[in-house]
Amino acid sequence: MSEEIYDVAVIGSGPGGYVAALRAAELGLKTVCIEKEASVGGTCLNVGCIPSKALLQSTEYYSFLKEDGAIHGIIAKDIFFDFEKTQQRKSEIVQGLVGGINMLFKSQKVTLKQGNAKFLTPSSVIVEGGGSSEEIKAKHFILATGSEPMPLPFLPFDEKRILSSTGALALSAPPKKMVVIGAGVIGVELGSVYNRLGTDVTFIEMLDRICVPMDATVSKMLLQILKKQGLKFHLGAKLLNGSAGDTEVTLTADIDGKETILNADVVLVAVGRRPYHLGLGLKEIGIATTSKGFVIVDGNFKTNVPTIFAIGDLIEGPMLAHKASTEGVAVAEIIAGQNPYINYMTIPNVIYTHPEVAAVGLSEEEAIERGLQIKVGTASFRSNPRARCVGYSEGMVKVIAEAQSLRIVGAHIIGPQASELIGEASLAIERHATLGDIASLSHAHPTLSETFHEAVLHAKG
Ligand SMILES: Cc1cc2nc3c(=O)[nH]c(=O)nc-3n(C[C@H](O)[C@H](O)[C@H](O)COP(=O)(O)OP(=O)(O)OC[C@H]3O[C@@H](n4cnc5c(N)ncnc54)[C@H](O)[C@@H]3O)c2cc1C
Repeated sequence: MSEEIYDVAVIGSGPGGYVAALRAAELGLKTVCIEKEASVGGTCLNVGCIPSKALLQSTEYYSFLKEDGAIHGIIAKDIFFDFEKTQQRKSEIVQGLVGGINMLFKSQKVTLKQGNAKFLTPSSVIVEGGGSSEEIKAKHFILATGSEPMPLPFLPFDEKRILSSTGALALSAPPKKMVVIGAGVIGVELGSVYNRLGTDVTFIEMLDRICVPMDATVSKMLLQILKKQGLKFHLGAKLLNGSAGDTEVTLTADIDGKETILNADVVLVAVGRRPYHLGLGLKEIGIATTSKGFVIVDGNFKTNVPTIFAIGDLIEGPMLAHKASTEGVAVAEIIAGQNPYINYMTIPNVIYTHPEVAAVGLSEEEAIERGLQIKVGTASFRSNPRARCVGYSEGMVKVIAEAQSLRIVGAHIIGPQASELIGEASLAIERHATLGDIASLSHAHPTLSETFHEAVLHAKG
């Protein structure tokens, strides 16, 4: 039993929790971070953003050499993809970044406790792990326990044939045939990884579009491009049943109104994620949650128990690492008596397919739904000289501005390096920049950012 009382105890060391802990310590608060897993970094670092991007990058290079190298005069013969080596590289990247967080915790004097935290009272938890237990007391708690993959009731994860994203990231070899249930961001990213390695990948998606709520024009364009790459899609289709045998999975789906049987070596269930707070004892101390299990917070991330705050995937909002980190900084500052501000309109959303897709602010449909009078400008990467040199010029930029003030309220990019290009649009929205502000800004030539400039000029008329 410890008599020490921390100013702040953070539960969970994902991008929400570890950033909150570091910021709290930086502000002079005595901070402890409790993590149930052996490794810090949460979903993002261990089984999410980082491992998926490592596999996407390796397979993109492979696919480039196989499919597109020749247009640059690079003729690569007998290319071999060493999947084991790729997986090893992925793990090394993760380990390196985990080590970085541990070092930051040490240098900022954040105490790390490994074990599962469960509330005893609103000001204390019991941390159990490795055969021992310890009571931790704190003046404030930050819940950052994240989310978990949502299973289908009739097709539970076994991580051998019925995979969550975690299982799909850890395969020892590319499967021959994979069915992906759900064509959202995680589905299309991981489907792309295996398609590039020769897996026959088929999607079953209930909606008539992929990656909802992405802008409709961009979503259609991405669908066409992914189809050209060999991915197969059944949209407006419903999975009815499924069973996993020793060697394959058999699925029954309603496709175009007909009951259809599909077989696959593995099925990736990517139908969404749900907030995770199993064994945390929220009910026992009376913390209110929504019907979907999200912890309810006010504008200052405070739950209905005044000393307990919550951030990240555990609360409502987009399930994104940088959203969790932004909230982590803000909640630490609120506890330290500051008054931070988050503009959720400027939190970008990226899909790391080839080409990438990135969006910030309102989509055209959302702007219309809100009753805004808008001006829309588009520009294609086809006429962008840099894109021609890069060797990839499919894609476009769409810019949406409020018609009267000409302030930019949304930007949608599908094309090379969209993840990097979206930063300019985020800053424009954050600083209330108008079409005129961006139009008069000199963009380096030749760069991909000239297409953003072109779209702004188009919207301006
Ligand atoms: C395959 C995949 C790819 C993704 N790619 C991206 C991307 O490219 N960009 C992006 O922005 N987002 C991406 N995400 C989403 C991103 O990972 C999450 O939004 C982010 O990790 C949420 O951070 P968090 O801190 O809220 O929770 P998490 O990262 O989930 O961390 C929660 C932590 O709390 C710990 N914990 C839970 N309960 C307890 C307890 N009782 N006691 C102690 N510890 C506990 C967990 O072990 C975990 O370490 C991806 C997700 C997946 C699955």
